[in-house]
Amino acid sequence: MRKKFVAGNWKMNKTMAEARQLITELLLTLKSLDGIDRAVCPPATSLPMAAKLLEGTGVGLGAQNMYWEESGAYTGELAPAMVAELCGYVIIGHSERRQYFGETDETVNLKVKAALSHGLTPIVCIGESLEEKQAGQTAVVVSRQVRGGLAGLTPEDGAKLVIAYEPIWAIGTGLAATADDANAIHRDVVRPALAEMFGEEVAQGIQIQYGGSVKPDNAANYFSQSDIDGALVGGASLKADSFAAIAKAAAEA
Ligand code: PEP
Repeated sequence: MRKKFVAGNWKMNKTMAEARQLITELLLTLKSLDGIDRAVCPPATSLPMAAKLLEGTGVGLGAQNMYWEESGAYTGELAPAMVAELCGYVIIGHSERRQYFGETDETVNLKVKAALSHGLTPIVCIGESLEEKQAGQTAVVVSRQVRGGLAGLTPEDGAKLVIAYEPIWAIGTGLAATADDANAIHRDVVRPALAEMFGEEVAQGIQIQYGGSVKPDNAANYFSQSDIDGALVGGASLKADSFAAIAKAAAEA
């Protein structure tokens, strides 16, 4: 039985003072929802403060990105060990990283391996563009991202992953995928690709989140599906009441 996992991707939003306020408000609800996994992913500047606030609460902390090298002349980057001393999770390969910062399945693969070797749980993002969807290429694209991003991992590694299926056309647009359609991709494309790589038993244990315009009013619908194991939430994670409502829907599913 997979636990639901709800994570908030704050993207480039919230100063430290704002982040402190939001986490303080969120804890009023999230702390007690211990039947689910839940985490916030604030900007890097707020990670040390967030790590202190979240200590002992059961609410996880994630970074939004990191580099794969151990240290050195990589101006502006965060090393895996720096992230691992503050966080349990790291988002890897978000479509905005792929679109604006040149990330590819190959760099995603390097980052996933680096994260695992530092004990971090990578939340690996995959998803097709609108053009790819319209060309009937969703399954091909998503399978390629799974195979490329996770190439060379062992079943033991596979068991430590979280996948977030985020169709790019649904991110921040209000155009959410239907729960049935998202579930079909999870069940018929992503999980079978994971099973081919890591075996059926490992694949059945991997949490596959849906992401793309998840809101309090559609969350329960996603969480009632067989293969949607939670959500990676962007816009609706920036307000305590909406993220708490989504987390509650996951706890009640
Ligand atoms: C995201 O960027 O991970 C995301 C799902 O954004 P939104 O919920 O705003 O669509």
